[in-house]
Amino acid sequence: MLKELAKIEKEGLYRTAQVVDSEQGSRVRIDEREYILLCSNNYLGLATHPEVKRASIEAVKKFGAGAGASRLISGTSSLHIKLEQRLAEFKGSASCILFTSGYMANVGTITSIVGREDLVVIDRLNHASIVDGCKASGATLRVFPHRDTASLERILKRSKKFKKKLIITDGVFSMDGDIAPLPEMIRLAREYKAILMVDDAHGTGILGKNGRGVIEHFNLEGVDVLVGTCSKALGSLGGFVVGSFPLVEFLRNKARSFIYSTALSPAAVGATLGALKVIQQEPSRREKLWRNVSYLRKGLLKLGFNLGKSETQILPIIFGKEGEVMKVASYLFHKGILAPGIRPPTVPKGTSRIRLSVMATHTKEDLDYVLSVFEKL
Ligand SMILES: *Cc1c(COP(=O)(O)O)cnc(C)c1O
Repeated sequence: MLKELAKIEKEGLYRTAQVVDSEQGSRVRIDEREYILLCSNNYLGLATHPEVKRASIEAVKKFGAGAGASRLISGTSSLHIKLEQRLAEFKGSASCILFTSGYMANVGTITSIVGREDLVVIDRLNHASIVDGCKASGATLRVFPHRDTASLERILKRSKKFKKKLIITDGVFSMDGDIAPLPEMIRLAREYKAILMVDDAHGTGILGKNGRGVIEHFNLEGVDVLVGTCSKALGSLGGFVVGSFPLVEFLRNKARSFIYSTALSPAAVGATLGALKVIQQEPSRREKLWRNVSYLRKGLLKLGFNLGKSETQILPIIFGKEGEVMKVASYLFHKGILAPGIRPPTVPKGTSRIRLSVMATHTKEDLDYVLSVFEKL
C-alpha cells in the first residue's frame, strides 16, 4: 500500500480533503479565513436555506435522529413515503424509490436490471457510480465516445445475442457541464429495444422551466429509468429512481443497496421535502443561477479560457497538465477562492481542469472578484 501511495504522490495525484468550518454557503470559512465557494453542488443554496433547515429540524423532532432499520424491516416512515410521492410528482413519473445516496441508487439499479447474459452500453464520461454498477452487474460492458450516438448505434446493431440491453447516460455530465443527446438516444433505445437509463444528478432542480430536470429541458418522454440525487441542487442527501410502478416495485424487491442498508435519516428526508417546496415556491432562485452562469461564462470566455462544451452551471476551465492545474488551484486558494483542480482518474488524462460550479447565491461582487483573479492568471 505504501508503495502505491508513493506512486500516487509522485504522479501529482495525491488527494487530501479541505476541512471547512462553516455551513456550505456561497462563502465558507477555512482556518479563520473566508473563501468564495466555487465547487459546491449546492447550486441553489438550499443546503443553507432557512426553510430547508427548519423542515429538517421538524423531521428530527417528530421522527428522531436515525431511521433505526432498513426500509423493509422497520425503517420506512410516513416521511419516506411522502418524499417518494413528492419526487414522483416532481419528475412526472408514476412511482419512486429512495436510496441512501445517488451512488447507491445507480449501483443498486444497474445490478438489478442487468446480469451476465445482458449488455450495458455507457457514455465514456458517465459518473463513476454508473461504471461501478456496470462492473458489479457482470453484464458485458461497451463504452461509446462521449455523446457519440453514431457509435452507440453501431454497438446496438451488433447486440442481437444479448437478452437485455441497457443504455445509460448522465443527463448533465458532472465534469464537463454538457448535456446528453437524449432525443436521439430515446429513438435508438426504441429502435433496438433497449432500456434507457438517465442519471439526472446535476439537472434535477436546475434544468427545465420548473426545474424538473433534463426530461423537462428536452420536453421528453421515453426514459425508462430516471435516477436523481437529493444531494446536489436539493441541498440534502439521498438518491432516488423514478419510473413505472412495476420498475419501482422490482427495485424494491431486488436492489441490494436498497434492501441491505439503513433507511435515510429523518433529517435528510425532511430537508429534501423542504427543498422541493422551496424550488416550487421560489423559481427566482433558478433564474438567478442562470443569470450568474451567463455572467461568469461570458467573462471567462472574454479572458480567453477554454470552457469546453459546457451548457450549464458547471464550468470546466481546461488546462490539461496535472501540475499546472494544481498550481492554478493553489493560486486561487491564496486569493480566497475555493475551486480545487480535478485530475485523473476523475477526468481523462490530459484534460485536468479547474471545475467551477456557479451558485444562485453568488453575488455580482463575488463573480467580479473571481473574474479579476482569473484575469491576473
Ligand atoms: C454526484 C453524482 C452521483 C452520486 O450521487 P450522491 O448522492 O452524491 O451519491 C451520481 N451520478 C452523478 C452523475 C453524480 O454527479
